[in-house]
Amino acid sequence: MADALRLILFDVDGTLIDSAGLISAAMAEAFSAAGRRAPTPIETRTIIGLSLPIAVARLDPDLDPPALDAVTAAYKAAFVRLRATGDEATATPLFPGARAALERGDASGALMGVATGKARRGLEHILDGHDLRGFFVTTQTADDAPSKPHPGMVLNALRATGVDGARAAVVGDTSYDMAMARAGGAAAIGVAWGCHHADALIDAGAQAIIESFEALDDALERLGVGA
Ligand SMILES: [Mg+2]
Repeated sequence: MADALRLILFDVDGTLIDSAGLISAAMAEAFSAAGRRAPTPIETRTIIGLSLPIAVARLDPDLDPPALDAVTAAYKAAFVRLRATGDEATATPLFPGARAALERGDASGALMGVATGKARRGLEHILDGHDLRGFFVTTQTADDAPSKPHPGMVLNALRATGVDGARAAVVGDTSYDMAMARAGGAAAIGVAWGCHHADALIDAGAQAIIESFEALDDALERLGVGA
């Protein structure tokens, strides 16, 4: 019989939370403020999930260090300002079925956590805004480990919970999540509603692609991370 203890690690942006619009708007504003060409929403979608300085550098590899710092600071200011124009539910809504999936995981006794490229302050804002804090026993952020796809966040979460990698899965929307999961020894489940196409997720190591949160429990079961 499989070990009863299991861990489901969720990415946040593009997986639990529909934040691409807000992030794209903030990124465009930040680059414009620095006198650079603003990335398009499609360009920004490719870097959502990376830690912020790495994401900014990926969007404009020609930025020198002071310009990189300026764009990063301008992004943080723009994000906070834009976010404040609406309440959490409208600015960064949960994807359909997300809360129900967390409730099912909780009821089944699964340990759950998050692994996000967001800074801890940003994550806490989201968790409090959606009243999600109680679901997660471990929260891994850009402040705790190198940017995805480095496996540090997965390894930290396994260590924190005492769960074996064979009984852990990462649920995410980008190739960075999938590569992080596999490098950390966890199963990789891609979601079809986020920033990267399913083909990119599979190329990066996704072992299952789910079209909705309703399909999550079956995917976990197939990968040996079921209840
Ligand atoms: Mg994501």
